[in-house]
Amino acid sequence: MDVYDRLRVRKRVNGAGLLTRLGGSLMAPEVLAAMQEAAQSYVDMAELHTRASEVIAVHTGAEAGLVTSGAAAALTLGTAACITGHDVHKMERLPQTDGMPNEVIMFRMHRTGYDHAIRAAGARIREIGFNDLGVGAGVRGLEPWEIHAAISPATVAVAYTMTPSRQPPLGMVAEVAARHNLPLIVDAAAQLPPKENLCRFIAEGATLVAFSGGKAIRGPQGTGILCGRRELISAALIQQLDMDVSPQTWDPPQGLLSKELLRAFPHHGLGRGFKVAKEQIVGLLVALERFAAADSAGETRLQEEQLEALATALKGTPHLKATLLSGAVTGRYPVLELVFDEAALRASAYQISLRLQAGSPPVHLSERRAQEGMLVVDPAGLKPDDAPVIAAALRAACSTASP
Ligand SMILES: *Cc1c(COP(=O)(O)O)cnc(C)c1O
Repeated sequence: MDVYDRLRVRKRVNGAGLLTRLGGSLMAPEVLAAMQEAAQSYVDMAELHTRASEVIAVHTGAEAGLVTSGAAAALTLGTAACITGHDVHKMERLPQTDGMPNEVIMFRMHRTGYDHAIRAAGARIREIGFNDLGVGAGVRGLEPWEIHAAISPATVAVAYTMTPSRQPPLGMVAEVAARHNLPLIVDAAAQLPPKENLCRFIAEGATLVAFSGGKAIRGPQGTGILCGRRELISAALIQQLDMDVSPQTWDPPQGLLSKELLRAFPHHGLGRGFKVAKEQIVGLLVALERFAAADSAGETRLQEEQLEALATALKGTPHLKATLLSGAVTGRYPVLELVFDEAALRASAYQISLRLQAGSPPVHLSERRAQEGMLVVDPAGLKPDDAPVIAAALRAACSTASP
């Protein structure tokens, strides 16, 4: 009996990708070992955060970095830093921002459910541009003049959601933001792999970038990274840190924090609810080092072999056509597309998915294209022996569905 058995929680086979609702990713033994070590000593959290910043800086090319409680928390704290800088009075008032500059400019096509995290800091999103590309009504995306026109004394930042289409070009938005001396916040939570993206968005002009620690980096699920300009990372850290300190004795390490930056001492900030444990910080850093050093080509090859084995095991399954798309084709990791003959099966892809999830063990495949009658096997969350289990579950799901 493991801990999940004792809790009567079912363990699931994950062919759906690294999804927060399925537990994010699984940590490597080295990461767990480092977390266990970290759990056995007291440390000064300001010092640990300062060293963490240095490690993140090495791997992202940013000036500084902060381990947050997820990419969403990184967006909230990054936005808070853009609103307050090191102004302690403003920090104290958040998320109440009446009477202070609080607008974050965002392209309409970049709005997502996650931008709640930006609003949570007290920012108001100023939406710009049209959705012509999204609805196929036209050929034009966001243009520089539209960003210029929206900028006012109330603007504190420009936000950008990194998407597969990368439209509008990040460099263009960065240039406009820089001309107005405004920070550019990039949500790149799920834009890893490729690992080159750790550095790419900073190199292209982003001021702050948010990554999830519990997705492809395979750190603790409740972690994330905010990296970018030192003074903003510093302002974000101050608003996350435990500030129950005596001004007479508080002596933070140099680098990110300094008494000189602050005219007064803030109390606990907006980010107190986003506390990150010492074990999580250490785990994230070790996971980040492993991710940055990983043999990505080798990993892709293993994933392709695993999906090929699954495709082979599925041969002859009625009303199911499996197509393997290599990593070279998708540009990221390989996937196995499963197209169901919904009419012959008299079941939709959603219904097949429900049957898989009701099985023992429950099997999850990606439903991102289920509307097209397709389930996708995303290999990022697969364990080595999962292919035969998934094949058996699919054969059963397709045969129960047959008339
Ligand atoms: C997953 C995700 C987030 C949230 O990341 P967490 O690390 O879970 O907080 C934010 N934005 C996008 C685009 C994401 O995919």
